[in-house]
Amino acid sequence: MTLKLYDTWERRLRPFAPLEPGRAGLYACGPTVYDHAHIGNLRTYLFGDLLRRVLQLNGIEVRHVVNITDVGHLTSDADLGEDKMEKGSRRTGRSAWDIAAFYTDAFQRDLERLRILPPTVWARATDHIPEQIAFILDIERAGFTYRTADGIYFDTTRLERYGHLARLDIAGLQAGHRVDPGDKRSPTDFALWKFSGAEQRQMEWDSPWGRGFPGWHIECSAMSTRYLGALFDIHIGGEDHVPVHHSNEIAQHEACHGHPPARYWLHGAFLRLQDSDKMSKSDGSFIRLDSLVERGFDPLAYRYLALTAHYRSKLVFSWTALEAAQTALGRLRRAYVELPSGGVADPAYRERMLAELNDDLNTPRALALAWEVLKSGLPGAVQKATLGWLDEVLGLGLDTWRPETHAVPDAVLALVEARRQARLDKRWADADALRTAIEDQGFVVRDTAEGSVAAPKTATLPVTD
Ligand code: AMP
Ligand code: ZN
Repeated sequence: MTLKLYDTWERRLRPFAPLEPGRAGLYACGPTVYDHAHIGNLRTYLFGDLLRRVLQLNGIEVRHVVNITDVGHLTSDADLGEDKMEKGSRRTGRSAWDIAAFYTDAFQRDLERLRILPPTVWARATDHIPEQIAFILDIERAGFTYRTADGIYFDTTRLERYGHLARLDIAGLQAGHRVDPGDKRSPTDFALWKFSGAEQRQMEWDSPWGRGFPGWHIECSAMSTRYLGALFDIHIGGEDHVPVHHSNEIAQHEACHGHPPARYWLHGAFLRLQDSDKMSKSDGSFIRLDSLVERGFDPLAYRYLALTAHYRSKLVFSWTALEAAQTALGRLRRAYVELPSGGVADPAYRERMLAELNDDLNTPRALALAWEVLKSGLPGAVQKATLGWLDEVLGLGLDTWRPETHAVPDAVLALVEARRQARLDKRWADADALRTAIEDQGFVVRDTAEGSVAAPKTATLPVTD
């Protein structure tokens, strides 16, 4: 059965055939570690995990590389503004290096709680400065660079198909651009190396062009080449990467190699908030995985919610939708745990599930089939084995879940009941005191439409700002 994937470069579904039979190289643009990941970022990594698991289900061994951006990502995509790491350092009073280490750990812990498989290689930008300098030297030798007062820039006008991935209207962009002397020449040109100048920087290196730091896009070109070679199978990221970051990675590669770095380009749609249209790290008002846990949600309820939408469709987050996902996940887990073991997956269902997943990762339809299995009338052990087989891709950990992990002790249930009564009687101070007593026992209480429920409190990270 053929796996079909939607390729942004060609704007169509394409059958996937790896360069080398049975193996695929996959590069995913990683987080900028100046703050926590928000659940929007995590949706993109859930998409990457899904893709990897579907490739594996098709018998393809995946070499999965994810970078950690710990230098050079400026607050503006136009090569202006501050380095996000240095800004994070000022915000928290800690060194840029400390911040990078802290948020890298926090990010990896988020992935673990979402059961996202760790990549084959984690590649940190600051660990690959020589590779980035070497790549810039290659671009320079090929004649695609120029120097301005503040750095070395890539000359996008020299590439015939610059911006093809995003179908950029270059002429339109040029027309609207006012050129200041000393500035970059064309609006789509971008920094390869920025000079430290008079600015006090914590992260800076010597280079053939002077002391400074790499631009954001060069790290991915240098590290994908180092770990996957000059041409690999699949490059992924969030949809915002299409017009700038991935377009520029492609340009850098075209300059040196005459072709883009990857053969397939896949992009995940954004998660949006119901009441505003965006979720961004920079405005500080974002929802983290810990925000869900603090409200008593299981991180995997968020994974379930993400699976209910196709990765190329916009997903609007709401607490009600998360509540529904948690309820559905709970039902699925209980149904699974109660089924007898020892069966073999039903071949007809397996084939139908694989067909949905191979149709550009259609998880909403695969999930619908999971529910259908439970109503199929097949022997219980066959149902269990079929769901277990699908869960290799869904990653909900059905096999590891046990009801007792989530059991709430009687003493805590009594406190929840006492608090319910206090609220009914409008004894608010008592209700608050009871909430504290519940928390002291290591539980959080959450008020839902069906009443109040307690859930174990998961340790949360210290908040640094
Ligand atoms: P950053 O840490 O800002 O470099 O972003 C990490 C990843 O999250 C990138 O692949 C972005 O495309 C992706 N991303 C950013 N915002 C969202 C969002 N609201 N929904 C889904 N993915 C996002
Ligand atoms: Zn990248």
